[in-house]
Amino acid sequence: MTTKWVYTLDELDEAEASVDGDWDRVRGLLGGKGANLGEMNRLGVPVPPGFTITTEACNAYLAGGGELPTGLWEQALAALRTMEEKTGKRFGDPTNPLLVSCRSGAKFSMPGMMDTVLDIGLNDEVTEGMIKLTGNEHFGFDSYRRLIQMFGTVVLGVRDEPFEDVLASHRERRGVRSDADLTGDDLRSIVGAFKDIVRRHARIEFPSDAEEQLRMATLAVFDSWNGKRARDYRDAAHIPHDLGTGVNVITMVYGNLGEGSATGVAMSRNATTGENALEGDYLTNAQGEDVVAGTRATKPLQQLKTEMREIYIQFEGIARRLERHYRDMQDMEFTVERGKLWILQTRTGKRTAQAAVRIAVELADEGLISRKEAVLRVEPEQIEFFLHPQFSTESKAGHTVIARGLNVSPGAATGVVAFDPDLAERWAKESKREVLLVRPETKPDDVHGMLAAEGILTSSGGRTSHAALVARQFGKPAVVGASALCIDLVARLMTVNDTEVHEGEWISIDGTTGEVFIGKLDTVVPDMDDEWLERLMGWADEFRRLGVRANADNPADAELARKYGAEGIGLCRTEHMFFEPERLPTVQRMITTQVLAERREAVDALLPFQREDFAGLFRAMDGLPVIIRLLDPPLHEFLPGFEELTRELTDLQIRVTNARTLEEVEEITTKLSETQAMLDKVAALRESNPMLGLRGVRLGILIPELTRMQVRAIFEAACEVTREGVTAVPEIMIPLTSHVNELRRQREVLEVEARKVMAERGIEVKYQFGTMVEVPRAALTADQIAEYAEFLSFGTNDLTQMTFAMSRDDAESGFLMRYLADGILPANPFATLDEDGVGKLMRLAVSEARKTRPDIETGVCGEHGGDPASIAICDALDLDYVSCSPYRVPIARLSAAQSALRRSQGT
Ligand code: PEP
Ligand code: MG
Repeated sequence: MTTKWVYTLDELDEAEASVDGDWDRVRGLLGGKGANLGEMNRLGVPVPPGFTITTEACNAYLAGGGELPTGLWEQALAALRTMEEKTGKRFGDPTNPLLVSCRSGAKFSMPGMMDTVLDIGLNDEVTEGMIKLTGNEHFGFDSYRRLIQMFGTVVLGVRDEPFEDVLASHRERRGVRSDADLTGDDLRSIVGAFKDIVRRHARIEFPSDAEEQLRMATLAVFDSWNGKRARDYRDAAHIPHDLGTGVNVITMVYGNLGEGSATGVAMSRNATTGENALEGDYLTNAQGEDVVAGTRATKPLQQLKTEMREIYIQFEGIARRLERHYRDMQDMEFTVERGKLWILQTRTGKRTAQAAVRIAVELADEGLISRKEAVLRVEPEQIEFFLHPQFSTESKAGHTVIARGLNVSPGAATGVVAFDPDLAERWAKESKREVLLVRPETKPDDVHGMLAAEGILTSSGGRTSHAALVARQFGKPAVVGASALCIDLVARLMTVNDTEVHEGEWISIDGTTGEVFIGKLDTVVPDMDDEWLERLMGWADEFRRLGVRANADNPADAELARKYGAEGIGLCRTEHMFFEPERLPTVQRMITTQVLAERREAVDALLPFQREDFAGLFRAMDGLPVIIRLLDPPLHEFLPGFEELTRELTDLQIRVTNARTLEEVEEITTKLSETQAMLDKVAALRESNPMLGLRGVRLGILIPELTRMQVRAIFEAACEVTREGVTAVPEIMIPLTSHVNELRRQREVLEVEARKVMAERGIEVKYQFGTMVEVPRAALTADQIAEYAEFLSFGTNDLTQMTFAMSRDDAESGFLMRYLADGILPANPFATLDEDGVGKLMRLAVSEARKTRPDIETGVCGEHGGDPASIAICDALDLDYVSCSPYRVPIARLSAAQSALRRSQGT
């Protein structure tokens, strides 16, 4: 039996039967476009008659070294005869010609990557015949010149320029801007010139035989599967190279046959707002490409209602039917040829985030999809659009991108450049200016400037750099690692190529895309109080298993997180509280003194501040758990930098030698000795590898007064708010444990303090002690750790860093980018959890810990807690919750729901 290589649009059932009704395989066999055309035809939608040559034929042709497989052409000609019967026209017959298009169409859409030839079937005689039939010379010669041009470039490999040059010189001669304004005579002579181009460049006569044209066009479409464009696209889109393309041969219909003809594109719902109303553009007496090329002002689809009422009503009905059938918003192309409507294509329509949410919810309301499907239809990242201002499209189009960096914290920000945090704060607070903080990188004592700024731009640093973390934490748009920027902090100048930006000049950054613009762009604020989003999130919450908490260090963030649906605080980094300007000197005194009494005094002075911090968190989270992590970072982070102090000292030494008066000498000498004293202290605390040095639980063991004070503050605050009627649920977290003994020791000391406070106040508070799992050894010995921990929280930032032995700050601004570009690592492990390595440690830790304490609470609080792919891994690991920045809470809720749904579907 010979293979069936060709299916007419009426033979979709047969194609289905040949692959056991599996629709995915139908698309594989006929390509997406062919399968959709067949399906529209079966639904009774008016589709011009045609046929599809299968992807198998393409593969057989390519494997056969350019020979058409046996029987293919005979089958194609037979299908052509069927088209002739259906249309009542004949291919190549000047008195009543059938013209066809020949288009590629693979299983997955590869827009513009392969070839198309239109108007096949025209030659000198047929063109004259068409002109007679239509009485339209312009139309006849315009179609003919289009065929020769497309055939010349696509099939014969002639460059487009010689054709375009001919058109341009005719336009010039005639004094018109558009080809549509050329006369029939012009086009007749253009046809002659085009045939000459083919003769000269391809060294053959343009074939006048219609079947030969079709055969050559078919081979060209097959060959275009292996064109460079197509291969590169498939590599990028991860589409296999062995699928092959289908070839669709479809009857041409024309929207440019006078005022009773038209062509247009339409969406079945509004793609910007999601409103359930047809929207689109059309033109009367025009070809499809005139609508998309933007050369003529199009008319809104609603106008068709008055211009061609019957057609509009028919189209509206078809759009509804297609939407019901495909159960999604459709993007359609249509042509009206002398009062008859034809649908040329339908596919799932692209849409904005707002539209995606509204359409998903309304489709569920209309019963077209289930609520579960609605939840799966929206990309979690799309939710970001509801939370951050965006630049308007028009404004973006009018400004130049001067640099690109990592899009680490979404949203649009615009402001005047400030190169230091103090100035940023002053300008923002005192002068009420909008400011963008621009730095090579940021560090903890820049936070006030970062908070005051509208957004943050750095020239170095990666996704988990300080700037990125803080920006996300506070919902500030940020672009980091924009390495094209040359920032000169002394000259107060930023240079990119030849462009200079001085302090105080306007720039704009798009944290969603990583773009940096010169000037002030306009922003639009999307509405988070979107009724459809609220409903979608409600459904998501019903379907998810995984809890979602927030990383929040102050009451304002906690309140925001709760508003976004957080079910508690998964991480409060207490060190952020120590950087407040009124506290920092006390913190520094506590760190640098060797005198125990002085240290106690400093610690006691910090206690009321901490108590207020925690009370605020408990109030905001009334009834929900609040995990407070005891002090974690190396202490030198709270002190001025060693290099900075050394520079200052040298400077003072120079100044003292140049001093003129005794007072001046005295003043500088005092400063000198203070600076020297600070430098000595900083030098004493200096470590060659601070991230692996005195930090985390080690601090608490060496300076127990500090962590004891923090625990006292937590319990005093808990007792205080309990009296107010608030339910405080503190969970005290000990950072960076690597050995169970560290945890045991700290917990013993701290729990005594906790009980003491509760006894003093006569109030019992429900609490837990637990630890972070940030060190591989802690994960490996989680069974022992669980003896003393009621909860484990995976600090996946450090755990990734320590598992890979990669400093996240250095890696992301250096070799890691190369690793990703070369494919050594499939993804940035600091952004998406490394399932095979870090994930394996986590799995082991959870199962070991549960052996000791079956009900141990587990969660993740590293950056991964807000990343959809990592959230799916955490769900599969059966953790209790993920914790992320307040602004990612809605994204995490949706991701958790999608993960649960996919797991239940086994996908
Ligand atoms: C972590 O290591 O994942 C973590 C949350 O702690 P930090 O980012 O503060 O080091
Ligand atoms: Mg950590």
